[in-house]
Amino acid sequence: MVFIGHEKRGLSRFFCFERHSLTTFTALGLAEAILRAVAEEGYDTPTPIQQNVIPAVMAGHDVLGIAQTGTGKTAAFVLPLLNSLLDNKERPAERTCKALILAPTRELANQIGQCIRTYGKHMRASVTVIVGGAAMGPQIRALSRGVDIVVATPGRLLDHMGSNHIKLFGTQMVVLDEADQMLDMGFIPAIRRIMGTLPLKRQTLLLSATMPPAIRALANDFLRSPKEIAVAPAARPVDKIEQRVMLMESGAKRDALVSVLSQPDVSRAIVFTRTKRGADRVEAHLESAGLSSGAIHGNKSQSQRERALASFKDGRIKVLVATDIAARGIDVDGISHVINFELPNIPESYVHRIGRTARAGASGIAISFCDASEKAFLRDIEKLIGKAIESSGDFGHQGRHHQGERPAGSHAKRPAARPAHGKPKEQGKRKSASPSATASASQSGHAAKDGATPMKRRAMGPAGHAAPKPSSAGPRRPHNRAA
Ligand code: AMP
Repeated sequence: MVFIGHEKRGLSRFFCFERHSLTTFTALGLAEAILRAVAEEGYDTPTPIQQNVIPAVMAGHDVLGIAQTGTGKTAAFVLPLLNSLLDNKERPAERTCKALILAPTRELANQIGQCIRTYGKHMRASVTVIVGGAAMGPQIRALSRGVDIVVATPGRLLDHMGSNHIKLFGTQMVVLDEADQMLDMGFIPAIRRIMGTLPLKRQTLLLSATMPPAIRALANDFLRSPKEIAVAPAARPVDKIEQRVMLMESGAKRDALVSVLSQPDVSRAIVFTRTKRGADRVEAHLESAGLSSGAIHGNKSQSQRERALASFKDGRIKVLVATDIAARGIDVDGISHVINFELPNIPESYVHRIGRTARAGASGIAISFCDASEKAFLRDIEKLIGKAIESSGDFGHQGRHHQGERPAGSHAKRPAARPAHGKPKEQGKRKSASPSATASASQSGHAAKDGATPMKRRAMGPAGHAAPKPSSAGPRRPHNRAA
């Protein structure tokens, strides 16, 4: 296994325990059309995950990559995938795709779709994003013509497979992105069903921030002698993030939030709450205090989520209030602050949350509000990251009633899988007619720019992503083991 860590002192500089000598994109052997797009994006050097994954994929290996968002992992699988399409110009048959990328959330799927358009803008490759919450019609029409790359969330893909709008017998490459979040969201039975319909002769890549046993089992079942490539694990928060805890009574949190967000050094902030209703309440409070904000969580319609994210990216709102579930795919530059309005009950989520700031080598501040009922969560987080977080304030009179016990019904462990009952529920309940995400990569290459530009030409740093919602779906036997 290749393990890529980061230096203790400067996180913007990676090193590989097994150094790879391929340090330019040209040396990786990518086609000119791709090199040009990458150069236009301002990427000077491939990140360590790219240096290791790209050659492995181009050599035809299956890959098991342990990496978080923020490490350049999307380009690590998209670039060689596009390269292989240049060698295989045959039109995909109707209702088939040559490559399939599965992602846990709609935001992440859309973001991957945008990356494909960006990196593939000088070639003719078609990409369709298939996610829940969007109208079926445009997706069906796009699939009927046959597509080079489908990026999908598992639930909606299964819907289309069930009605024969897509068949996977001709799919030669499959990527499972953020596999551990798929596990947390109960998608593993769906993934196994999808994988069971793929041809045995194919290339499979699996990327995950962590490697819990269920993901290891998935890899064992569906990958063939994979190359294992890892970057710094999620349990190591980026050293560049200044972390602080503010102890307070629960009733003091809302005013404290307004006061923190009103500081002049807060240019762009994400506020995390544990619940969807909590996110709505915090957003309403911020609005009433005159702070422009938007909320993004699983009960918002797809179009509301897209609007909030777009406003946050282009600076129309300064604060995004989010639950863990909605934040995983968010890659927004220049987030100066992450505020944990409530501490997460899953300690890994803390690492993912704070990784929204200090992306790609920048610095950032993470402030966590902790009331007396959250003491146990704080202990779990400090245990995970291996250090105490500097704290100020006190719990007031609430501190006398709590001895650090967990709030009722909470749990600090990774949530258990739910019993099998068919298709897992995708986040977001209401349907909304969001525009079809189908486009030729050559037509819409500029689409991904908003989430990426300021960090260009800087060395990359590892960063986490937001976390899992307690899930309820459990493992189910695969219908057809593919490997
Ligand atoms: P990801 O880990 O795929 O979410 O990528 C995180 C960010 O890094 C994205 O904004 C990419 O545009 C950017 N990025 C990816 N590869 C490189 C590179 N080689 N040099 C600079 N930035 C990159």
